[in-house]
Amino acid sequence: MTACRGVFATQNVGASSSSFFQAPQVQSLRSARMASRPAVRGLRQVTKAEGKLSVSDLKKEDLEGKTVLVRADLNVPLDKEQNITDDTRIRAAIPTLKLLIENGAKIQLCSHLGRPKDGPEDKFRLGVVVPRLSELLGVTVKSVDDCVGDKVAEETDKLENGQVLVLENVRFYKEETKNDTVFAKNLAAKADLFVNDAFGTAHRAHASTEGVTRYLRPSVAGLLLQKELDYLDGAVSNPKRPFVAIVGGSKVSSKIDVIKTLLEKADKVIIVGGMVFTFDKSAGKGVGSSLVEEDKVDLAKSLVDEFGDKIMLPTDVVVASKFAEDAETKTVKSGDVPDGWMGLDIGPDSVKLIQDTLADAQTVLWNGPAGVFEMEAFSKGTFAIAKTLAEITEKGAITIVGGGDSVAAVEQAGLGDKISHISTGGGASLELIEGKTLPGVAALENQPVHA
Ligand code: AMP
Repeated sequence: MTACRGVFATQNVGASSSSFFQAPQVQSLRSARMASRPAVRGLRQVTKAEGKLSVSDLKKEDLEGKTVLVRADLNVPLDKEQNITDDTRIRAAIPTLKLLIENGAKIQLCSHLGRPKDGPEDKFRLGVVVPRLSELLGVTVKSVDDCVGDKVAEETDKLENGQVLVLENVRFYKEETKNDTVFAKNLAAKADLFVNDAFGTAHRAHASTEGVTRYLRPSVAGLLLQKELDYLDGAVSNPKRPFVAIVGGSKVSSKIDVIKTLLEKADKVIIVGGMVFTFDKSAGKGVGSSLVEEDKVDLAKSLVDEFGDKIMLPTDVVVASKFAEDAETKTVKSGDVPDGWMGLDIGPDSVKLIQDTLADAQTVLWNGPAGVFEMEAFSKGTFAIAKTLAEITEKGAITIVGGGDSVAAVEQAGLGDKISHISTGGGASLELIEGKTLPGVAALENQPVHA
């Protein structure tokens, strides 16, 4: 690990008297962690991120009978009837919960859900996840309609070893996002230790991600968080080469930091999606009515000047007469977008070029779609990339997909289990790749130096 050291080098919470620091051989739950990971080719080659203590570093006696506050990301999408439309986040929380249950911990499970404005709102109550959680865990999960205070204390006292209590939405208190000290202390009041498994909010210093770590020893990473760190930090900072990054999506502006970082770390950076046209325009090419960020044209030019051969741009594009599914379409060479037409996908030559480039890649990171894949007519490039990533994973490459839209494309193509790692955090994954310190990670216990 090199460039991302900062993520791990920040403060430790100093529990030097804790048993976790006296046992360099604490490998007892490591096998459980590995067992919880999907069987994907390439996984064994990944360079693990080092630095933070994980729940799998703890021993049974560290957990049995202990009350563990777990911060998960249970922020599932709901329809108007309060049905869960995608349970990915609940499923992602299961391995850590199972490990804790099997080791006899008493679990307080907390999360946010939606964006409540001012106090409790029925449509954001976390009880909605309890049935699915119970089903997936195979145990009856309990819940309480607050996350701090007497009721929580009472229900926590009733917990037996291996039982789970879901606390109410932490964002019903505005103190949560303000990382209020008193609120964090109250949230931590009944717990002995803390497990942060909410990667999606690890880039936020909130009471339930960062504040509670001041009161709970040890505070460790959950299995999901650890896996995100292993891939997005370990595999990206110290990649098996060739390392190819594919960055797409609509705008250069939202991905500029990640592009810059990847240009330093990767052997090749393939630019796709709407941001292509800002680059094309900077080279004086015809872009018609395609999406262009005028104020980023100079920046695009300076990147091409500095990194030249490392940047790969599409050689052809699918253009449309209007931004609509029923638009007239044709494929043109890059730079030949007619006036009034807009580029909405990469063309078949570009797909072939990308496939050839990925053929011998050992690490691939993909963030952002290659076109307006929400419309079938402009989805081919994106799905071709998803398919190619699945194929090279099978051959042993480490493939990592991050960012909401590219993840959605992989899932839609039914290829989710054929990719080495699909990141659960959009903003958090970008920040981690950029080498930024994630407060929710920095606050966790460091690995003992001798481990
Ligand atoms: P982002 O959130 O930046 O990753 O961007 C994702 C969005 O980029 C998706 O909704 C795509 O429809 C959009 N997108 C991808 N390619 C293009 C393009 N050529 N023109 C306009 N929008 C695009």
